[in-house]
Amino acid sequence: MPIVIAAAGKPRRKVRFSSNQTTKAIAQSKTSRPSVSTGSRQPSAPTAKKDSMYDPQAHPGVPALYQELPRLLDALCTETSELQSETVEKCLPFLKGIHTSQAGPFNQHGVPSLKQDDHIGYLYDSLEEYPAGFAGMDASRPWMVYWALAGLCLLGEDVTRFRERVISTFSRMQNPTGGLGGGHGQLSHCASGYAAVLSLAMVGGEEAFSLIDRDAMWRWLGKLKQPDGGFRVCEGGEEDVRGAYCSMVIIALLDLPLALPPDAEARQYGLETFASGLPEYLSRCQTFEGGISGSPGSEAHGAYAFCALACLCLLGQPDVTVSRSMDVPLLLSWLSARQYAPEGGFSGRTNKLVDGCYSHWVGSCWPLLQSTLDGVQLAADPQGSVGNLYSREGLTRYILGCCQSKHGGLRDKPGKHPDSYHTCYTLTGLSTAQHRHYHTTSSPSSNEVFASAFSWKWTPITASENAPSDQNVFDEKDRLTASHPIFVIPHAAAESMHVWCQQHPVRV
Ligand SMILES: [Zn+2]
Repeated sequence: MPIVIAAAGKPRRKVRFSSNQTTKAIAQSKTSRPSVSTGSRQPSAPTAKKDSMYDPQAHPGVPALYQELPRLLDALCTETSELQSETVEKCLPFLKGIHTSQAGPFNQHGVPSLKQDDHIGYLYDSLEEYPAGFAGMDASRPWMVYWALAGLCLLGEDVTRFRERVISTFSRMQNPTGGLGGGHGQLSHCASGYAAVLSLAMVGGEEAFSLIDRDAMWRWLGKLKQPDGGFRVCEGGEEDVRGAYCSMVIIALLDLPLALPPDAEARQYGLETFASGLPEYLSRCQTFEGGISGSPGSEAHGAYAFCALACLCLLGQPDVTVSRSMDVPLLLSWLSARQYAPEGGFSGRTNKLVDGCYSHWVGSCWPLLQSTLDGVQLAADPQGSVGNLYSREGLTRYILGCCQSKHGGLRDKPGKHPDSYHTCYTLTGLSTAQHRHYHTTSSPSSNEVFASAFSWKWTPITASENAPSDQNVFDEKDRLTASHPIFVIPHAAAESMHVWCQQHPVRV
């Protein structure tokens, strides 16, 4: 009988230890999968590969790094390491450009082109009718709208054609007590509000910008602010960095007063603004690994890392706010460990598998950290930079090689179905890898607190400026639109909404 973990109701995962702790290195052959335990295999810790596994069938433009199993492998064989090995085996044919589902064409680097038309079609479809089985996703409707619109923007589509539909959809989700739920009559939640505000910014126009009752939103957000500086995600809900990031994005884009409403409970604990105690709260979320968790004391996770870093970058210049609140070298170490070879993609946590959506959650941490190290740049002439902090090439190969589904849409990894969430966030990651983002002193915002958040500029990364070790491996026709590194919508959409709101201040 397997041991059942009471809380989860699931059988405990099997962990196998080698019976012999010698560290003899043995050669890996092409057919010997690493770490696959049968219970009788001899221990092999750490395992080093000697023979080249260069596949003569592979596309000639694919370097050996993306064709081979890892050179060093931990001998400890667990269910986790087995899954990791299986994932690598699944990815390798796609990385080599030899999987039967890959129709091509491939460029000189052995990378398939971006199936733009198929992905555009997939995202348009995702805004249409859903079968009855999707009723359980009802509360995620704001997200479905956001993922589709953000993905279409990245692919260069004009989403203003959806303006009326978006306004009609979200006007029914707004509650008179402030905030938006996932649907009509549903409890207000900061994630619904975040997706709604970003969607309204993307479709643009005065009617969209004026849809949100900003006074009610400000009062409702005041109820989420906690005495320790963090935010709940909804009234009575959990407190974590999602609550902080989503709330601060809403406050910044809608130019809501930074002061807490007079009746906010947090005022009784000495807090005066939405930013009060927030950097300190986010700092407490950095773990011993260097990554950032959802709340103090939890496990570091890629999506929470992005939420926390983006939140700090909303509050001021990254070189000031991130440096002050985070152990940057430790964070760099943890983030670097999220990128795997040969897959090239990112995992969200230690000992987890690569997943396309972390192309954004982890991938979009990089411009924020790079800007932390580079400091303020001149808008017209960005100066020297620390350079690439991760392998843009690896990420590009993973997204274009492993994440594109045959009939449109992008996915977590080979073997998984595409969905609009993974389509949006793999494309965001690809766009991030294709552009250099930096913060400047030039901002359309007259709000001192948020001036830096709206000062971000970008330049396309060209083949010539990249080190040979991290070359561009995508074709120019596959370059996506740049996305704002904090708001994750086009720069112009974020600026237009903020500027309009500044011109129409909330009277409180
Ligand atoms: Zn995912």
